[in-house]
Amino acid sequence: MYEDKRAAVFERKVKVFNDVYNSTRKSYSKITKLLHDEIINTTEVIDLFKQAKDASPEEQQVIRLTLYKLLIPTYESLKSINIRQLHFHLPNVSSFLRFHKPEKYGDSLLGIRHSLEIVNKERRYVEGFEEGRIYNGFRYVYPLFDEEKRYIGSVETSLSFKALSNDIEETLGDEIDFILKKSIVEKKVWKEEQSNYITSQINDQYMNESGDAYIPIVSKYQKINQSISKEVTQKMQSQTGFSICKDQTIVTFIPISNVEGDRNAAYLISYENSEEISTIAKDALTLMVISTLILLILSMLIFVVLQKISKINEIATYDSLTGAYNRNTMSELLEYELERMERKHKPLSILYIDIDDFKSVNDKYGHEKGDFVLKEVVDLMIQKLRKSDRLGRWGGEEFLVMLPETDEEEAVLVAEKLREVISMGDYQIAREVTCSFGVATHIDEENLDSMIARADRYLYKAKKEGKNRVVSHL
Ligand code: GH3
Ligand code: MG
Ligand code: MG
Repeated sequence: MYEDKRAAVFERKVKVFNDVYNSTRKSYSKITKLLHDEIINTTEVIDLFKQAKDASPEEQQVIRLTLYKLLIPTYESLKSINIRQLHFHLPNVSSFLRFHKPEKYGDSLLGIRHSLEIVNKERRYVEGFEEGRIYNGFRYVYPLFDEEKRYIGSVETSLSFKALSNDIEETLGDEIDFILKKSIVEKKVWKEEQSNYITSQINDQYMNESGDAYIPIVSKYQKINQSISKEVTQKMQSQTGFSICKDQTIVTFIPISNVEGDRNAAYLISYENSEEISTIAKDALTLMVISTLILLILSMLIFVVLQKISKINEIATYDSLTGAYNRNTMSELLEYELERMERKHKPLSILYIDIDDFKSVNDKYGHEKGDFVLKEVVDLMIQKLRKSDRLGRWGGEEFLVMLPETDEEEAVLVAEKLREVISMGDYQIAREVTCSFGVATHIDEENLDSMIARADRYLYKAKKEGKNRVVSHL
């Protein structure tokens, strides 16, 4: 009778543990889908990453850096919900960018990361547990395609066993440990990272992570672990979940299969004080698991929305090609500053700038080169301006610079400095690039439009007098 009851308790225990494990895993899978659909699989990321596979190492470095800058805020948010790995791979199954180790790239993952090989070959989403070069983890890998449906590589988000067991621990209230097959660690983990693992007290063919977070559980249950070692090692052969009771503690094991199909590549282990009631009560936990899931997904949704908002703000503020303020923002900044300077009785000057003979740059070297020149001109100017100055793209190849607390004489000097640095720039074309400048300083009672119109008239004069020069009313 007692034996029967015990067996039933054990069975329930294994089931609840399994349920919690599965739904936690699934909630992360939903989050990574959201991440893929809303953030990764977007024109901005795809347009950038699709160039990587055929690029030279130097070009790849630029793409890598740009991709890193673009997604680092996303990665930071992912970390806050325990997803510590975001990893892009090329179609040849080499690492392109690891957000958790950006300095390590270019290494081939063939023979190491089975999931990537499946994604690569079958061009489909793969999820599951898998050991890697640095970390073990639950991997969620998506194939990536360009707008013509050509395969351009894959992206993986994953979380460590530790992260997952933390979630399970929170839900179950038990202490959770996990162990991993030694042969897998030895085969896959980089030598210098293998010190992150120690041989398990329960089964010497398995290993524990040796990170600080694990030491407490390992040492707390050392006696129990050693005394159940033989029985557990034998039971593990069945490759199914089981419980053992020792010194008032129920120890439950559930096998974790890996992507390669090894059915007991790892085990999750829970330690619970053996009051029957608590185990039975844990059935209600399946409900709690759902709430954990909802919470996780909600936090991810909020994060996606916030990212979208910041993106929208960015689009609304800056010119997407050059990164200078767009015309709208520049008008607002000018209105605001004009009013402020009037109030403070301080001078305000503007520079109206137009690239000379820009049409012929496009005609001769192509539109892309033209775009490059525009960006370069902006970069050169930004380097020369003060922090309080503002630069906006006013139209095609026309810019406005706002100089607060600057009188006409000083403004002419600033314009001369910009004119010079632009004319000395390297635009990778066989000709000079120059600009003409109209300088206007605010006069009493003048509104913004007439001030800009005045600067435009001086600019026109500069063009007529032979370009590459600065004209003001002085
Ligand atoms: P000028 O010295 O009198 O200013 O002559 P210009 O050729 O610079 O002036 P024009 O107004 O005739 O031509 C401006 C050119 O700028 C035409 C247009 O194709 C080009 N342009 C405007 N916006 C962009 C852009 O975003 N990218 C590129 N590549 N070219 C642009
Ligand atoms: Mg023009
Ligand atoms: Mg022009």
